[in-house]
Amino acid sequence: MSKQIKTYALHNYLTIPQMESLSEEMKKDIEIVGRVLPFKTNNYVVDELINWDDVEHDPIFTLNFPRMGMLEKKHYLAVEKLLDQQAEKEVIDRKVREIRLALNPNPAGQEHNVPYLGEIKLKGIQHKYPETVLFFPSQGQTCHAFCTFCFRWPQFSGMSELKFAMKEADLLLKYLRVHKEVTDILFTGGDPMVMNAATLQAYIRPLLTPEFSHIHSIRIGTKSLAYWPYRYLTDADSDDIISLFEEVVAAGKNLSVQAHFNHPRELSTDAVKQAIKRILSTGAQIRTQSPLLRNINDKPELWAEMWRKQVDLGCIPYYMFIARDTGAKHYFELPLDRCWQIFRRAYRQVSGLCRTVRGPSMSDNAGKIQVLGVQEVRGEKIFVLRFIQGRNPKWVDVPFFAEYNPKATWFDQLKPAFGDERFFFEEQLLKLKVAKPFLFE
Ligand SMILES: *Cc1c(COP(=O)(O)O)cnc(C)c1O
Ligand code: SF4
Repeated sequence: MSKQIKTYALHNYLTIPQMESLSEEMKKDIEIVGRVLPFKTNNYVVDELINWDDVEHDPIFTLNFPRMGMLEKKHYLAVEKLLDQQAEKEVIDRKVREIRLALNPNPAGQEHNVPYLGEIKLKGIQHKYPETVLFFPSQGQTCHAFCTFCFRWPQFSGMSELKFAMKEADLLLKYLRVHKEVTDILFTGGDPMVMNAATLQAYIRPLLTPEFSHIHSIRIGTKSLAYWPYRYLTDADSDDIISLFEEVVAAGKNLSVQAHFNHPRELSTDAVKQAIKRILSTGAQIRTQSPLLRNINDKPELWAEMWRKQVDLGCIPYYMFIARDTGAKHYFELPLDRCWQIFRRAYRQVSGLCRTVRGPSMSDNAGKIQVLGVQEVRGEKIFVLRFIQGRNPKWVDVPFFAEYNPKATWFDQLKPAFGDERFFFEEQLLKLKVAKPFLFE
């Protein structure tokens, strides 16, 4: 079993053999929507994951290929018109940029957690919760394929002022030297596993030295197990990747691959099963996470199946996220009530070994807010919420309440319950903003 990666994007997707079976309408949708949302797929997704017999409804096709409904009608029509008129590239580019900016390319203040080292702004780092630093290596700012729902798409579509990438590990190490409270470093992207083994080594090896003994866990957030499991099997440097993982474990660090799986089918191929086995054989752990997405995985049975399969394969279910307010959100988003219903209907079907999963949760400015459920208290219908992570750690695990709102899809649409003026943490959040404006700027 081996495969050479072949990627497809707008310029060459017509060479995908299965395209012949696609209707002219669907191809046109790819042409139009693919100008605005980043589009990239590969031969593993196309040959081993997508069900081409029912491509109209196929969730994996929807995961990679632009579809009409992903753009608002007015945006779709605007691009269609320019393409029909064979407008100049500049004119099309300007329109596309305008539409992208209207799609909230930077939700929930991702750029608001960029720390400083003295005067230097550390653009490749996010430090929001005391114990965990996120690092965006500049060579990892792409993926083996692009998800149509992705909230990191500005990083892939040349809107580079929003790019968090950092050129080198040096500043990261300097930062970690003076921040002994940090125990976890999470490599993220894009996808850090698009980097070659040598680059990954250069970032990770220094962390294994005694100087960084306060770093207990190295995490790698990646979609590669779902999009390119051959990364761990037959790529030219697959063996070096596996050796690096062994080296991290031998140094006494916990290595956790935070694997993104959106659908149980991504866990079904021989390649992914072998890749998981190979990663686990190094002593690394695999934790799994996914957003809840309409048109992809909005059924409790799918989640229950996904968690069961993950546990069967030795992975640990970790997070269910609520889809962010960005990009094609109207196509993927679900009301909070529905998210909770799907979560609990899935959760109650599975054994305790699957119930390590937490969610559904929203990563908002104040923290990771979990929807614990809907309840009625003395005649008032409310959402019960709690922080899984908070900008102030004291907020974590304290239940709080919002007025029930059947349409709300994100925390910013909720009001405190019982006629309260503010949520319990809001005053402190404001104070934090004054005390550490650089975290919120
Ligand atoms: C989720 C998240 C983390 C990690 O949180 P854990 O609960 O430890 O998994 C760190 N930083 C940010 C910004 C996050 O959203
Ligand atoms: S793999 Fe992750 S970063 Fe890459 S496109 Fe998908 S969601 Fe975005």
